[in-house]
Amino acid sequence: MSQEIHDVIIIGGGPAGLTAGLYTSRAKLKTLLIERMIMGGQVMTTTKVENYPGFPGGIDGPDLMIRFQEHCQEFGLQIEYGEVENLIDQGDQKVVVVDGKELRGRTVIITTGAEPRKLGIAGEQELTGRGVSYCATCDGAFFREVPVAIVGGGDTAAEEALFLTRFASKVYLIHRRDELRATKILQERLFASDKIEVLWNSVVERAEGDASGLKSVELKDRVTGKTRTLDLHGLFVAIGVVPKAHFLAEVLDLDQDGHILTDAECRTSIPGVFAAGDVRKKILKQIATAVGDGAVAAIMAEKYLMDRG
Ligand code: NAP
Repeated sequence: MSQEIHDVIIIGGGPAGLTAGLYTSRAKLKTLLIERMIMGGQVMTTTKVENYPGFPGGIDGPDLMIRFQEHCQEFGLQIEYGEVENLIDQGDQKVVVVDGKELRGRTVIITTGAEPRKLGIAGEQELTGRGVSYCATCDGAFFREVPVAIVGGGDTAAEEALFLTRFASKVYLIHRRDELRATKILQERLFASDKIEVLWNSVVERAEGDASGLKSVELKDRVTGKTRTLDLHGLFVAIGVVPKAHFLAEVLDLDQDGHILTDAECRTSIPGVFAAGDVRKKILKQIATAVGDGAVAAIMAEKYLMDRG
């Protein structure tokens, strides 16, 4: 990686980061976007995006993100791969430490997004990749004609339950309460599926299996207190996400859940450092709001640079 000084360093290549990159590279700011693994962020694990404007009938998540990336590269956005380990504020310059190497930027936009929350139950870690999964879109096709379950009651759980009906013989949706928080249109589709059974007021207490994979889970009914065993080959966990900002805990102000605190213009506690998308504390986490954040952060970075001449 080069040792030059970039106008803008963007950390993370999801919708917020790519939008910021589109704006700053189109504004002719020398921009470097650093991605850890795969461009596109969480949208890459979404089958169909139906609520991003401009795509009647919906668009597959990966297809949408390829368009985002191609659009940025039309304006010359530079992309490199590596894991950002630290951010050091040196006033007019910010040092971004990537895989032990130091990169310098006059501004930084953090768009690292979020990752799946874990259940924290016995057997979960050992059986991850052998029956326990955090991405139905990625792993659903491995579970053909066998019973699976998905935990959660939000949009992700509802969408993934519907996706899993393409492969599994039966899909249990395990939810800890007696109503879902998923949007009504998804709930209607869910209840209309004869392959999906919702297990209300239920929590998974343990995942059991052996070297060949998951065999069953222990379920507890939160109303009666009774436990029972449910035979399963796949357990998909969709209980929300946690922000990926832990590596900045000593550097920036975070809330108690680990989100980066910003003002409405995406400014963090360090001048010249901005945060956009799911990693920052905000009410609505959608592709559309990540895109809006990315644009705001980019314009604020440009303004910051102009103010300093
Ligand atoms: P979410 O809306 O936060 O829902 C998480 C679900 O998991 C909730 O039902 C919650 O239960 C449950 N839960 C949380 N912790 C749990 C635990 N320890 N054990 C058992 N259950 C637990 O998360 P999400 O569904 O991933 O959605 C995140 C954001 O992305 C939302 O804003 C959502 O609208 C958006 N999204 C949108 C779309 C779309 O528009 N097509 C698709 C996917 C996601 P409670 O309900 O009891 O709290």
